[in-house]
Amino acid sequence: MRPYLPFTRPSIDEETIAAVAEVLRSGWITTGPQARAFEARLSEYFGGRPVRALASGTGALELALELVGVGPGDEVITTPLSWVATANTIVRTGGRPVFVDVDPATRNIDLAQIERAITPRTRAIVPVDLAGLPVDRDRLNDIAARLRLRVIEDAAQSMGATWRGRRIGSFGDLVAVSFHANKNMTTAEGGCLVVNDDAEARLVETLRLQGVVRSPDGEQEVERAGAKLNLTDVAAAIGLGQLARFEEFTARRRVLARRYFERFDRSLGCGLPPEDFSNTNWHMFQILLPLEQMSIGRGDTIRLLHDAGIGSGVHYPAMHLFKLYRAMGYGPGQFPHAERVGASILTLPLFPAMAEDDVDRVCTAVRDILRAHPR
Ligand SMILES: *Cc1c(COP(=O)(O)O)cnc(C)c1O
Repeated sequence: MRPYLPFTRPSIDEETIAAVAEVLRSGWITTGPQARAFEARLSEYFGGRPVRALASGTGALELALELVGVGPGDEVITTPLSWVATANTIVRTGGRPVFVDVDPATRNIDLAQIERAITPRTRAIVPVDLAGLPVDRDRLNDIAARLRLRVIEDAAQSMGATWRGRRIGSFGDLVAVSFHANKNMTTAEGGCLVVNDDAEARLVETLRLQGVVRSPDGEQEVERAGAKLNLTDVAAAIGLGQLARFEEFTARRRVLARRYFERFDRSLGCGLPPEDFSNTNWHMFQILLPLEQMSIGRGDTIRLLHDAGIGSGVHYPAMHLFKLYRAMGYGPGQFPHAERVGASILTLPLFPAMAEDDVDRVCTAVRDILRAHPR
């Protein structure tokens, strides 16, 4: 039997491992020269915009919300179909996530429905590029400018994606990126926030480390309680190694995604992702199971794939159906597209080190399982 194929796996090369070992031997393992070098490289990557490295993508969202001034009583518009960090960070400010249903074609927030959700308490929009397929930035930024709302792009999944040839993160307002182990580039855990100017960058520096401000003569002052979200040099060394190969990773993901479109049996009735090869970074390849035509559920399908040596995952159940959000007044039936996608979505393996015939193996396994379990 072939080795188990996980749904994702980071590609860490020997050079990166050696660079990490060097940091560990250096005597300085937390935030220092590696983190500063990583930030400089990230800034270059994002078209020269100021970037600050952080301990997680969640932390980047938290600090972005703080920069925007979201607090108790404020509302923030977002999608119900994301990793729960997107909405949880809003809840933790004391604000309220205001969900807007997704467009079933893109599985991203339906921009046409945003205006209806705006109230005098709306402070910001947090769009998510699910699976690395970008939300339409022209329409998004138009809406935000017209309604005078800040945008915090949850680009946790979309580093490497583009919009009209420009890199996501290289334009726009605040952009939060994640370097979690499962993302297209990783620092094990980590993230960064792309900001508009040096003043915002300095504020992020302060807020990521207890709110301490140092004067030129080294004296410390604290005016607000900051968080603890700095990135270590150990993590930054991984990030530098990843950045050096990032274009290659993205190109490889595209090749594998194309292979899925070539090999996937379209007669099975599964929903395939938009066949977009200009913008998306192919963070994930996600199908919608035709559950109404199947005698087994998604959980059984995942188990059968696992038995066939193939990992798969659910990214994500619709967030508004979690207890936390039901307690805030949300419930079933409110966002039918997000609910249908969230109930049937399945992430198939896609990562740079996969072989083309791994894709074929996944397509065959999905076909065999679905054919063996018709309703
Ligand atoms: C991964 C992810 C986050 C959180 O990033 P962490 O680095 O895990 O904190 C937030 N939003 C989305 C859409 C994500 O995929």
